[in-house]
Amino acid sequence: MAKDPMLKFVGVGQDYPAKRAADERNDDFQEIARAYAIEKAEEQSSRCSQCGVPYCSTHCPLHNHIPDWLRLTAEGRLREAYELSNATSTMPEICGRICPQDRLCEGNCVIEFSGHGAVTIGSVEKFITDTAWENGWVEPIRPLPDRGQSVGVIGAGPAGLTTAELMRARGYEVHVYDRHDRAGGLLTYGIPGFKLEKHVVMRRVDRLRDAGIIFHHEFEIGRDATLDELREKHDALLIATGVYKPRAIKAPGVGAPGVVDALDYLIASNRKGFGDTVPAFEDGTLDAAGKNVVVVGGGDTAMDCVRTAVRQGAASVKCLYRRDRANMPGSQREVNHAEEEGVEFVWLSAPEAFDGTDKVAGVRAAKMRLGQPDASGRRAPEPDPGSEFRLDADLVIKALGFDAEDLPKLFGTSDLSVTRWGTLRVDHKTMQTSLDGVFAAGDIVRGASLVVWAIRDGRDVAERMHAYLKAKAKAAAREKVAA
Ligand SMILES: Cc1cc2nc3c(=O)[nH]c(=O)nc-3n(C[C@H](O)[C@H](O)[C@H](O)COP(=O)(O)OP(=O)(O)OC[C@H]3O[C@@H](n4cnc5c(N)ncnc54)[C@H](O)[C@@H]3O)c2cc1C
Ligand code: SF4
Repeated sequence: MAKDPMLKFVGVGQDYPAKRAADERNDDFQEIARAYAIEKAEEQSSRCSQCGVPYCSTHCPLHNHIPDWLRLTAEGRLREAYELSNATSTMPEICGRICPQDRLCEGNCVIEFSGHGAVTIGSVEKFITDTAWENGWVEPIRPLPDRGQSVGVIGAGPAGLTTAELMRARGYEVHVYDRHDRAGGLLTYGIPGFKLEKHVVMRRVDRLRDAGIIFHHEFEIGRDATLDELREKHDALLIATGVYKPRAIKAPGVGAPGVVDALDYLIASNRKGFGDTVPAFEDGTLDAAGKNVVVVGGGDTAMDCVRTAVRQGAASVKCLYRRDRANMPGSQREVNHAEEEGVEFVWLSAPEAFDGTDKVAGVRAAKMRLGQPDASGRRAPEPDPGSEFRLDADLVIKALGFDAEDLPKLFGTSDLSVTRWGTLRVDHKTMQTSLDGVFAAGDIVRGASLVVWAIRDGRDVAERMHAYLKAKAKAAAREKVAA
């Protein structure tokens, strides 16, 4: 497979005459692109019929005021449009880039229902917030006076960062703990840079740091502190650790070198995007260049892996999925993109064994057929006897999704209650776990979900935590008076 030159990353921080000339051409290009973007945003926004039944807003987990900011954009009132979209979201430009809009706002646009194609809501949202950053309209966070109470947030993904921002703005001291060396969670190390540019995530993190939020990087709860130690230190805690236990494939040869986990592969690629040295990429283990790649799975993680492999210059990229196209969990839009980029989908197929002695050399697979619906209502795949086939492979990426890690064991807290899926059990009214003052949000409560839902949870939890801390402060004041 030839590497598409349009997919190449231009070097950062270089300075030489050819680069300067390219930069000047780039400036001209940027100006044209910008004029085109403004025109497109206004054109799309003016397509909104202001129907009065904003299904788009009700199907957006944040209930963004979509028709209102579309109207403002159509009228050229971009700053007001930005302020309105920012009122309900801590990361509008990120959601605009990576929400599966076809399943959320855009999929419920009445213009889509009438067969004329949805207003491209996500692109407009991205455009107005990017414009706000460029024009300095994104204000710093101005915390209220210090309340003398402190909050600990475990996990710097979208759920944790949203709560951190909203609690800091309310005047709390906020500490964020994360086992990675950079904040952002899956925004930073899961989702590839071609879908979500990393500087877009980092400028959000910088804004939080500038507001006085204290980040503790490479700090793993369970290794560097127990949950109880953090409870002693803070007046309230949030657990927003996401789900990271990869679902396994049970087949002979799965342990062979060259069979790798999706997240290891994506983290290595994202680290390269930051300019880090990544030994497992440098020695070829996690680099798809020149290889026949087989990705096993049919969700969005699998789509990110196949599209990353294309960009790394793989010789061929195949995606093996046990159901058919109509029954895959990943976004259809992502599948279309992957197909356009040359990925071959091998539907209704599952791996049975991995060939190779020192290193993986191929995948032996069987065709599947869809049987009766299972408990989830989806038709269960079952092997079609006698349909075995083989695919050459030098790199196999397992992308079957993620489950929750065993947090009670990891955190050394057996009284932290979990569901039968290992996700944290919370009281849905208070958003607290079984431990007083310990809240939870995002994927660790919902199971693998979406960024926009993590932001929504982070927003809701901040409200509940604020109420809890106000009550705690009042009780402490009463006790003091009584004493
Ligand atoms: C490859 C991939 C692609 C995706 N693409 C999309 C997409 O395009 N659109 C979309 O909407 N959603 C997408 N998702 C889903 C989305 O990323 C998640 O739903 C979202 O990030 C969940 O947010 P969170 O804050 O709950 O957790 P996370 O983003 O997972 O963040 C959790 C953080 O907790 C930290 N942590 C975990 N355990 C500990 C510990 N013991 N101590 C300290 N820190 C800890 C982790 O290092 C991490 O930084 C994707 C997911 C994956 C895996
Ligand atoms: S946050 Fe997501 S669902 Fe909501 S308007 Fe933006 S793109 Fe649509």
